[in-house]
Amino acid sequence: MFRSVLDAIAGYRPSSPVRSPDGRSYQLAANESADEPLPAVVRAIAEAALTVNRYPDNSCAELIAGISGAFGLPEDAVAVGCGSVAVTQMLLAAVAEPGVEVLYARRSFEAYPLLTGFTGATAVEVPLRDGVHDLEAMADALTDRTRLVFVCNPNNPTGTVVGRAALEAFLDRVPADCLVVLDEAYREYVRNAVTPDGLTLLAGRPNLVVLRTLSKAYGLAGLRVGFAAGPPEVIAAVRKTYLPFSVNGVAQAAAVAALRAKDELMARVEGTVKERDRVRTVLTARGWTVPVSEANFLWLPLGDRSVPLAEHLAAAGVAVRPYAGDGVRLSIGSAAENDAFLAAAADFSPI
Ligand SMILES: *Cc1c(COP(=O)(O)O)cnc(C)c1O
Repeated sequence: MFRSVLDAIAGYRPSSPVRSPDGRSYQLAANESADEPLPAVVRAIAEAALTVNRYPDNSCAELIAGISGAFGLPEDAVAVGCGSVAVTQMLLAAVAEPGVEVLYARRSFEAYPLLTGFTGATAVEVPLRDGVHDLEAMADALTDRTRLVFVCNPNNPTGTVVGRAALEAFLDRVPADCLVVLDEAYREYVRNAVTPDGLTLLAGRPNLVVLRTLSKAYGLAGLRVGFAAGPPEVIAAVRKTYLPFSVNGVAQAAAVAALRAKDELMARVEGTVKERDRVRTVLTARGWTVPVSEANFLWLPLGDRSVPLAEHLAAAGVAVRPYAGDGVRLSIGSAAENDAFLAAAADFSPI
């Protein structure tokens, strides 16, 4: 009864919340914003709640206008979806099918193998080199069957980035009939000057799409809004794959309000960036190896010590995301949450 592709798919497994015996709980596992929504966003949500007996605007006109204004994009260059994960699925639905290849790095965002698997396309995984996308090896892995390449910049879960020169050299090598999806879920946290803003790379590239989300810096993980920006021809194809009404009206209203409050939200992001650098400084002073991160999380490449660290932290109520045998991804929370992590990690030996 079931499609054969499901045999190889386990399903997405989010981290479960943890709680210490004395009731403490710190969620540093999902790269969310630690700040509660702004009052203006809560008001927009409350107002939108009054109309949930009606279907939402399927064209998401106000939302697309808001994104267009906030990011300086033409409206026909924007496709929205129920989180950027859904936009990823829409992009795959537009180009992937059995017999074609989808290329991405490993380790990178877990949604890529999962959603590629659903399509029946062949996944081609290229290992990171020193924790960074190996764009030369990825270009070498392109074939005439490759239809889509994901580049996650900064990369989840390593926090590492590729610079403008390397990325442009890569884009120049990808044939025009292969889509490049530059996933910039963490763009707002980047402080390194060599990392390009993908939106500035779109001009003149018929096969480049930039993915953004309102789940991280914009603080709306619970409401599910993401978007793709790219050439109008690609965007028109992607919009066809939209699951009708899947960005609900409350989410649309909240996203519009959050985009209007962009400056205030970016000030919060600055606080997260400072905390990221503080936590990294403390850990490196303790002798931990922590790659420089341009995102709202740190990667702790602990190998076989990864699951033991997660278990050690869980006993203190601190949830992180372990990748068995590889590393631990630590989301940056409020100063108090980060201090709880640092205190709980103080008596853990990283080797
Ligand atoms: C968190 C994240 C997203 C955003 O997912 P949403 O569905 O928009 O919540 C997209 N890409 C990467 C790499 C992420 O880490």
